[in-house]
Amino acid sequence: MQKIEHLGIAVDNLEEANALFAKLLGASHYKIEEVDSEKVATSFFKIGDTKIELLEATAETSAIHGFIKKRGKGIHHIAFGVADIEAEMERLTQEGFELLNDKPKAGADGKLVCFLHPKSTGGVLVEICQDK
Ligand code: ZN
Repeated sequence: MQKIEHLGIAVDNLEEANALFAKLLGASHYKIEEVDSEKVATSFFKIGDTKIELLEATAETSAIHGFIKKRGKGIHHIAFGVADIEAEMERLTQEGFELLNDKPKAGADGKLVCFLHPKSTGGVLVEICQDK
C-alpha cells in the first residue's frame, strides 16, 4: 500500500453534499463522474495529497443505496493506492482477507479497483486502487 488515495463518503443528495463539502473544505469539487457498473454518481474533492469521494446511489440496486438504508449516510470506505493491484490482491488473499471481486474492475477516477469484505478488515470497507 502506498498511501490513502481517498475516503469514500455515502451521501443521499450529491448536489447538497457538494455544497456542504465545498463549504467545509474551502474548495469546490473538481470532477463529477457516474460509474454505471456501480450505479453511483461520484464527485471528487482534492485535499492535500488525497481526495474525498462523495457517492450517491443512482439506482436502488446500488450498494450505496443499501448502505445508507442500513447504516445511514457517512464514511463508506477507505481507499489505499497500490502500484500493482493484482500483486496486492494476491498478497491480501494469502493473508486471509476476503476480496469482494476476484479481478480488478474499472472504478471512478480512471482507476482499477478491488474491495475487501469489511468482515475481514475489522468492519472497515477497504478499497485498493491503481491508476490505469
Ligand atoms: Zn472509492
